[in-house]
Amino acid sequence: MITLYNSLTRSKEEFTPINPPHVSLYTCGPTVYDYQHIGNWRTFVFEDILRRTLEKNNYKVNHVMNATDVGHLSGDNLGDADTGEDKMEKGAKREKKNVWDVAQFYLDDFVQTREWLNILPPAKFVRATEFIQEQIALIQKLLDKDLAYETETGVFFSVDSYPEYGKLSGQKLVDKRVASREEVEEDKLKKNPADFALWFKTVGKFADHQMRWPAPWGEGFPGWHIECSAMAMSLLGEQIDIHTGGVDHVAIHHTNEIAQSEGATGKPFAKYWMHGEFLMVDGGRMGKSLGNAYTLHDIKGKGFDLLALRYLYLGAHYRDKLNFTWDSLEAAQTALVRLRNQFIAHSEQRIGVEATSDTGKMYLQKFMDAINNDLNTPQALAVVWEAVKSDLPQEAKRSLLLGFDKVLGLGLETEIVTEAETSQEVQELVSAREEARREGDFAKADQVRQRLENLGYTVKDTKSGPLVVPKV
Ligand SMILES: [Zn+2]
Repeated sequence: MITLYNSLTRSKEEFTPINPPHVSLYTCGPTVYDYQHIGNWRTFVFEDILRRTLEKNNYKVNHVMNATDVGHLSGDNLGDADTGEDKMEKGAKREKKNVWDVAQFYLDDFVQTREWLNILPPAKFVRATEFIQEQIALIQKLLDKDLAYETETGVFFSVDSYPEYGKLSGQKLVDKRVASREEVEEDKLKKNPADFALWFKTVGKFADHQMRWPAPWGEGFPGWHIECSAMAMSLLGEQIDIHTGGVDHVAIHHTNEIAQSEGATGKPFAKYWMHGEFLMVDGGRMGKSLGNAYTLHDIKGKGFDLLALRYLYLGAHYRDKLNFTWDSLEAAQTALVRLRNQFIAHSEQRIGVEATSDTGKMYLQKFMDAINNDLNTPQALAVVWEAVKSDLPQEAKRSLLLGFDKVLGLGLETEIVTEAETSQEVQELVSAREEARREGDFAKADQVRQRLENLGYTVKDTKSGPLVVPKV
């Protein structure tokens, strides 16, 4: 049995999918106008743990993630996604490129660096701009049902026409109106300040907007929220099992998704809503302006193994705030290396042997109890170390750890297979490369690396020394 905390009911519930053993999972993806920071990545790792846990429990997960490449306005940072400029256009100005190139660049970076964290790719990774017609159709449906209205500047969802508005956050509309900040410019044409944009017309401040499509109510581009409703429903159906995102999505983005989707279909949209908590840095807020919104490139640039960051994330429950410091990352890396050494020390033994002893089964049960209890990764890691320190035979230990790693995704399997399978020749080349590096002969080191590549291996430099991984 899996229990998950459902933000919609504000309680832990037993997980029962609509159509077992299938699970439809929609996770809000990156806005591809810049590198993702380690706060974003914490959410993506939480979602990866969720998916792996479901799969470990034999569910067949259909995972869809979107990439936002249009319509996400900068005012979102102030709590109002209908104000400011389009983040994509902002990125394009910053980099003096066109928006399409900016989107492609950061999309590619996302896909590449996602692998560093050993996050499984979704079954479908789709861009908002690939689903414009679906978004237009959904907006039309909302207009037809009088849940939306058109103004000179766009099409807006009318929150007053939808009595259940705000049920996810539990925030009443009155509170929302009071909170509607003075510093944010208000569209005077909106009937209610809480109404949100479904479509922006390319008039006024958006007259020069690069991305634009024809629509029945005028040329323009879709708002941010409508893309997720349209893509989730097009690819997974009108009712889905789990919808996730960062906790900052609760009050607006997901609240608006629910209103649009349920308003259009009259059916509950997602059965379970799950949200990952914030990451703090050095005990405080993380932000671009503060210079501490680190990217995976920053982490890698300091010589860390990215899986150490993953280990660090798993040390806190996804619904708790986590404080990132360079020292805590160092400690995570030390722990991870110790865990890997469990494998390397015994690599001569065959892998894939089931841990069948009663003690082995007991640890497996404890691990599953932890992870199935609303993804309690800190507790699951504690079980990992209990098993490591136990008097189980090494072979049983390794096989247990490999099973755990199907959920944790710390890349233990890669390391062990590698160590066991590398030939004498490969080992010698690795040593030769190390020697060349020690002597500062980087040209030679690079030649040796190339020879390893030709043999089908990549060398990863970790703090514990070089690790050879078969080239994928
Ligand atoms: Zn979304």
